[in-house]
Formats: sequence, structure tokens, C-alpha cells
Amino acid sequence: MEIISAIAVLRETLQGRQPVAFVPTMGNLHEGHLALVEQARQHGRCVVVSIFVNPLQFGAGEDLEKYPRTLEADCRKLQAAGADIVFTPSAHELFPTPQQFQVEPPSIASELCGAVRPGHFHGVATIVLKLFNIVQPACGVFGKKDYQQLHIIRGMVREFDLPIQIFAGETIRAEDGLALSSRNGYLSQEERAEAPRLYRALLQIREALASGQIDFAALETAARNDLARHGWQVDYISLRNANTLQAAQPGDAARVVLGAARLGTTRLIDNLEF
Ligand code: AMP
Repeated sequence: MEIISAIAVLRETLQGRQPVAFVPTMGNLHEGHLALVEQARQHGRCVVVSIFVNPLQFGAGEDLEKYPRTLEADCRKLQAAGADIVFTPSAHELFPTPQQFQVEPPSIASELCGAVRPGHFHGVATIVLKLFNIVQPACGVFGKKDYQQLHIIRGMVREFDLPIQIFAGETIRAEDGLALSSRNGYLSQEERAEAPRLYRALLQIREALASGQIDFAALETAARNDLARHGWQVDYISLRNANTLQAAQPGDAARVVLGAARLGTTRLIDNLEF
């Protein structure tokens, strides 16, 4: 496995190694990331994983500085998972001058997480487009854990005619249901014990709908209230059409319920398709 931090070296190394399968990450890797690498291996001759904590997607007062950076351990895991190349650019390598051009995603990027994190998905789309241009992969693999992100990236690829196939990886969870996330490491022991309630709230909504309940707003409110009673600050619990991410309507073919809430200072997100 090669570890490369310069764009020019990466480009040269990738000559003749198509098809490349690409997994962008911010590092501090866990089984969720490694499952994407495993999936990528099925789609490419050469698997490239990027590790870059992207400042463009963090807002003022968010956790950019304290975001866990664990490059050595990450590289060991990637080697074991069968990655071929780890791309670890510095901020200066990607932004030798300030990034003045930005991808402007559609209005869905201002809802859900985008309502609480203004500009977040502009930053995500911009870095992903840059990385796609640098790596020029045949496919990219993204986790459903970040459902809105996946939706926006699919839209960007489609509307800009990028010749890249997007694959989605299922969310990998701890035994108690909590979705694995680099941010779980911020949780205190008590908060960690409480954290699976977010997933349980989504499961309850799915069960209620399966048993014939149809009042979406009431289900969202009940879940929000239950989390709030247990000390969460809820950003949203929202039932959406899985294909458009618009508010769920009777008769939708596929739905997803998405949630984001804070326990103490840690913000967790999760979702469930059905
Ligand atoms: P991040 O390092 O958090 O930017 O995530 C990098 C990629 O890993 C994104 O495509 C995420 O959706 C994906 N990912 C993060 N957590 C999980 C998980 N628990 N299961 C599956 N994929 C995940």
C-alpha cells in the first residue's frame, strides 16, 4: 500500500491503474469505513482511500480543530483492509490559494443537516468534486450513514455528467445499534450508553408506520419529545421520500427517516430506510 500526499505523485502513480475505486474519508477509521473499502475492492482494480479533514465543510464553532486525527492507525487498518493507495493531502496541497469557486448544491442542501450547518454541503460537494478530479475514479463509494450527503453527491454526479458510478454502503452499527462514527469517541461513558436511543427512535417510527399509523408529523414529534426527555437536543427527526428527500407523502414508494440530535456537545446523525 502506498501513502501519497502530493497530487502530482498520485496522478503519476494512478497511470494505467484504471478502473480506480475511490473512498473519500476524514480519517479516524472504523468498521464503517473499512466496509466501504471492502465494497470498493469489488468494483476497482486499484482502491484509493483519501484521508482529509475538510475545513470547507466545518462551520464556525464546530469541531474542525478537535476532529480526531489518527493517521498511523488508519494506515494500518487500510493496509489490512486491502486498500492500494492512501491519499493524505495537506490543506496547502489542496488549497494552495483560497478556494474561491464552490459547488452550489440545490435547495435540499439547506434542509435537514444543512439547516443546522449552513454551507456544510457546499463544502462537502466542493471537496468531493476536487477529489474526483484529482483521483479520476471509475466509481466512488459512500456510506448511507450520511444519507443527505449521498443524495447530494449522486445529484452532483448526475447533473455535472461526471463519469463516475456511485455505490452506497450500508450503515455499520455497534451491537447496541449505534451507528459507528468518528464522533462517537467524543461521548462520555454515560452518553455512550444513552446514544443508541436515536436509532431506537427511528426504529419505532418504522414500526409505527408498518402497523398502519399515517400521521407523519405526530410520529416525528413523539420521537423528538422522547429524545428531549432523555436529555437530547434534537435538530430534526424527519420522514422523507428516499429518492427525492422531499417530505414524505402518502404513497411514496420508498421512505427514509432521518434524525440528528446532540448529546452534550456531541452531534449524532442516523437514518433508516424502508
Ligand atoms: P467520514 O470520514 O465521516 O467523512 O466518512 C467517510 C465515509 O464513510 C462517508 O461516505 C460516510 O458516509 C461513511 N461512513 C461513516 N460512518 C459509517 C458507518 N457507520 N457505516 C457505513 N459508512 C459510514
